[in-house]
Amino acid sequence: MKKTLLLTTGLLIALMACGDSAPDQIGSENNPFFAPYGTQFDVHPFDRILPEHFVPAFEEAMERQNTDIRVIKEDPEAPDFDNTIAALDRSGELLGEVSRVFFALSGSNTNDELKKINREMSPRLAAHRDEIRLDKQLFERVKAVYDARETLDLDSERSFLLENMYSDYVRSGALLDDEDQEKLKALNQELSRLRVSFSDNLLAETNAFQLVIKDESDLAGLSEGVVKTAAGAAAAAGMEGKWLFTTHKPSMLPFLTYADNRDLRRELYTAYTMRGNNDNEHDNTGIMADIISLRIEKAELLGYDTYADYVLERRMAKTPVNVLDLLNRLWDASLPVAKNEVVEMQKIIDREGGGFELATWDWWYYAEKLRKEKYELDDTELRPYFELDKVREGAFWVANQLYGLSFEPIEGLPKPHPDAQVFEVFEADGSHCGIMYMDFHPRASKRQGAWCGGFRRQNRAGGEEVDPIINLVCNFTEPSGDAPALISMDEVATLFHEFGHALDGLLSDVTFKTTFRSSDFSELPSQIMENWAFEPEVMRHYAKHYETGEVIPDRLIQKISNSTLFNQGFITVEYLAASLLDMEYHTLAEATDLDVVAFETAYFDRIGLIPEIVSRYRSSYFAHIVGGYAAGYYGYIWSGVLDKDAFEAFKETSLFDQETAQRFRTAILERNGTADFMEMYTDFRGREPEIEPLLRSRGLQ
Ligand SMILES: [Zn+2]
Repeated sequence: MKKTLLLTTGLLIALMACGDSAPDQIGSENNPFFAPYGTQFDVHPFDRILPEHFVPAFEEAMERQNTDIRVIKEDPEAPDFDNTIAALDRSGELLGEVSRVFFALSGSNTNDELKKINREMSPRLAAHRDEIRLDKQLFERVKAVYDARETLDLDSERSFLLENMYSDYVRSGALLDDEDQEKLKALNQELSRLRVSFSDNLLAETNAFQLVIKDESDLAGLSEGVVKTAAGAAAAAGMEGKWLFTTHKPSMLPFLTYADNRDLRRELYTAYTMRGNNDNEHDNTGIMADIISLRIEKAELLGYDTYADYVLERRMAKTPVNVLDLLNRLWDASLPVAKNEVVEMQKIIDREGGGFELATWDWWYYAEKLRKEKYELDDTELRPYFELDKVREGAFWVANQLYGLSFEPIEGLPKPHPDAQVFEVFEADGSHCGIMYMDFHPRASKRQGAWCGGFRRQNRAGGEEVDPIINLVCNFTEPSGDAPALISMDEVATLFHEFGHALDGLLSDVTFKTTFRSSDFSELPSQIMENWAFEPEVMRHYAKHYETGEVIPDRLIQKISNSTLFNQGFITVEYLAASLLDMEYHTLAEATDLDVVAFETAYFDRIGLIPEIVSRYRSSYFAHIVGGYAAGYYGYIWSGVLDKDAFEAFKETSLFDQETAQRFRTAILERNGTADFMEMYTDFRGREPEIEPLLRSRGLQ
């Protein structure tokens, strides 16, 4: 119905615009979301999707979902699984399509128009979701099916869907009275607005700072490749003949690691750690405080002691106590290791006659010296063996050895950004498995970090098999001059990590569109892949010198393996500090006039964080906990326990043991999101996870 209206309006505007020079483009007849895409594999027509298509598409999509919901509510038949739960799962098809495209582009290829639409649409989408979640008539039907669940003879996938869907309604306030529901709606909309502001501010702050070097002597210590990249960045910014470094990690980390000029290291790192905390129009401290206090209100309204209790109820960890048990145990094990690392680095400073105490901006620089000294491992010696395309091929090879998958580049498909590469993925029997986009390098329109999402999820909710379309996005070192992109060890690990998420999406074998994943479990499929990245057998396959083609020598493989314990005190403490801060915020029972900077300072003092380490994220740029990782940043190390313990199953047999791989695939990858997390794990491992493999792998025992 709305569609007809839109068509008419579009026509009207087009007619009225006849005399004008610019023809109207907004009419729905031009909106690619409203017609079959007509593309190969039905991929999204990125080349035809323009910013102005999103708002009408979102509006139409919400309207269509409302119609779907009305049909469910007005069904004269008594509520049952198919006419209520499965029908709800199928509702909002178009909204899913539009949202996934929009939010993927907002992350990796944004512009002022998309940012504006995001600010406009986020609260409206939150309100739309609330409208459905708080629909009494609809909830009555869901509840009726839920209450009758024992009599319905549902299989485990259907039971899991029903129980979690019911719980979603309750957690969204379905059992609240009208007044409290209105309060909750207002809270959600405000939270959603604040989230967008926080991330816009963070991007602005990250782009705002420029370390411009005019004097060549200030580049001392930096490799030729890093200098070239910085010269290119300066030229692109209209500063020919100078060198530009930014707080984007691929630019910042090499500078912190190699630049001899201590003052400039301090300037750059300080700019990084002060992002969002500069008392300007992009300040995030007040926004974070508001977010925390609104979440406390929300938890209270829904009957939870704290926001962490609310979040964790649905995670593998279940309770804040379980999370804190693990984090505290690791904190106690890692803090002395980090302190010892400080002592070792201070020795170098003293020996060199530095005459100062190690500070936060010195850590990477002296850690690198220590690494060279202790392990003789030099990043610049390794990079020539880590050519991005070959590392990617290496990841593909591992997936082939484990699961028989193969990956073929495919030309001519529309892409979310011209830089993206596209692959068709095949099963061992040659059948189509899915499509995967990979977009590797930084640009101003892309947010920081690396992530893997999907433009379409595998399901067969509508009766037909829908194949997944995966989108993997990174911010890796760019090609420089004539050399291809040569990436760091960290970036190799990140590539395998994100590729693990991609496999989780590609190998999914579920019925319904609605799945219930958990961040403390969802990092298992990704993190386990990092283990293969540095196995000698795997490195010999992909790590070949970009100029000579020489396979990485055993000498370097040995050094890499020796160095796995390197800097683990720092890595673990830096991460745990952020995880503990996240838990500290979200286990607060009240927060009036919260000053987040004072709060984090006092907290880090209390837990004994050493002054040489800044938490991996500070409140003003802790985007994870503003987004989906609130009371959830611990999930990486929780998954770390799982991934090390799970990888042992391969170590106990062999790296590519087919039976173990098959069990990992069927117990976990194929049904992730449709079964209890501990049950999936024990189905794979035959027992619950153990922490010892993680402690051993980090030298924390
Ligand atoms: Zn991940």
